[in-house]
Amino acid sequence: MAEYTDPHIDEVAEEVPELSDGDDDDADDEEQWQWMEEDSQPVTCLFCDRLQSSVNATLQHCTAEHQVNLVGLIRKYNLDDYGYIKMINFIRSTKCKASSLAGLPDAPLPWESEAFLQPVLQDDPLLQADPEELCGSDGPRAEGHGALLHRAQAAEERARCSEEALARAMDDLHKLKVLAQGLVLNVETNRSGNLGAVSELREDEDEAYFSSYGHYSIHEEMLKDKVRTESYRDFMYSNPEVFRDKVVLDVGCGTGILSMFAARAGAKKVIAVDQSEIIYQAMDIVRSNQLEDKITLIKGRIEDIKLPVEKVDIIISEWMGYFLLFESMLDSVLYARDLYLTDGGSVYPDLCNISLAAVGDVQKHQDRIAFWDDVYGFNMTCMKKAVVPEAVVEVVKADTLISEPTVIQTIDCNRVCLSELEFSSDFCLKITNTTDCTAIVGYFDIFFDKGCSNKVMFSTGPQVTKTHWKQTVFLLEKPVAVQAGEELQGKITVRKNKKDPRSLWVTFELRDRKQTYSLQ
Ligand code: SAH
Repeated sequence: MAEYTDPHIDEVAEEVPELSDGDDDDADDEEQWQWMEEDSQPVTCLFCDRLQSSVNATLQHCTAEHQVNLVGLIRKYNLDDYGYIKMINFIRSTKCKASSLAGLPDAPLPWESEAFLQPVLQDDPLLQADPEELCGSDGPRAEGHGALLHRAQAAEERARCSEEALARAMDDLHKLKVLAQGLVLNVETNRSGNLGAVSELREDEDEAYFSSYGHYSIHEEMLKDKVRTESYRDFMYSNPEVFRDKVVLDVGCGTGILSMFAARAGAKKVIAVDQSEIIYQAMDIVRSNQLEDKITLIKGRIEDIKLPVEKVDIIISEWMGYFLLFESMLDSVLYARDLYLTDGGSVYPDLCNISLAAVGDVQKHQDRIAFWDDVYGFNMTCMKKAVVPEAVVEVVKADTLISEPTVIQTIDCNRVCLSELEFSSDFCLKITNTTDCTAIVGYFDIFFDKGCSNKVMFSTGPQVTKTHWKQTVFLLEKPVAVQAGEELQGKITVRKNKKDPRSLWVTFELRDRKQTYSLQ
């Protein structure tokens, strides 16, 4: 089925899945059968080795060449299907002379034995002929062995076709189910919301973003990130007082995991919103866990839909991207907060830190940067200008850290406003080793704090268990010599890429050098 991203009814009408067409298949079947019937096999004569083009040609040949009128024999001995089959097999197996058939007694016939039901030739077309038809009778057809075989094969083929048609019908049914879910569960859209660059993104520009979340694999990766998922779970399960009887909004519910944690933690109602097609899985998942009375799922961008409630008590969301702000999904959470969060309500996670540390990894630097100085004897140094400005998402080995980490920005999700998500910050890295600083690493920490009796946090830093966010590495084009105990001063500026608000520009100023990195 063609993917559809917008749930409007009129648009969906155009997207009605192409259902399989049974009529066409029937026509195909008929054609196939006609073909099979017309496609007669050559027939070996009963009395010589000559091949004939059809059963009728064989009968004529036997009469003309061997003076045996097989139709006459059928009539004379009143042979039914079995008698006819036995006669053919008798003639073939005994290789009896044509003349010996002339003076046979009326009874017993020499092919009386059941043994002659056994075909002598494989797929003998004579056995598939109907003696009554050969005699030109209009009477009811008794089935011969060959005819029975033929009909059994036909029935088998029809069964196979029916099974295929059933599979197609089931598939169509599934498509219709998904379509119906989209129609029923999409509430009226409201495109007046226009807070922030991301909410102004044109739908087609955001399509790639949401379709990436439509595939199961990204959700599998997130769910298997235990640091991430267990932190959300532990926060909700160990602070039931925060959730008891509350109305919760899950912004970007994906598979619905956070909504289900919230429901199990005691929430009165959970509204789960996601624009990507994964929400159809979430609908099944929620039902499979008998939580459909508690959790309402809505497909759509949070900026476009209208919630079925005026206000919510809690907003939960897992919106964090690389270097925290990549993806700019926090914009959507802030949009929901400003529109739907009741006074005194809370957004979770509530606090986030972005931290930096100095890295001294000469080996890696050579591998990524110095490499271009001599590539199979050629100078490709100009490539460095392309390599350096791309921030790299990778796991940094803790033993390559050469400074203490420093927090360059703290975000309180309950208070921050959109404009503060672009910022500049002076920083100071306390160097712990005398060596070359080859890169700056960035990462973030997440806190579930507000009103919690059991606070929960997790870090995406290089010192602790790695997460799917890994770390973000900003390679320095030229390594900087540093001394243990020194304070390496710098300035970082984080801006959204105006052309693609989901990606970021990060600029470092360090020892009179300035380098801008993109994160896309
Ligand atoms: N909450 C899930 C999924 C997190 S991934 C979990 O923790 O496993 C983020 C999800 O947010 C994606 O499925 C994405 O499609 C959805 N999303 C991002 N921006 C959104 C928006 N503006 N409106 C609705 N859904 C959004």
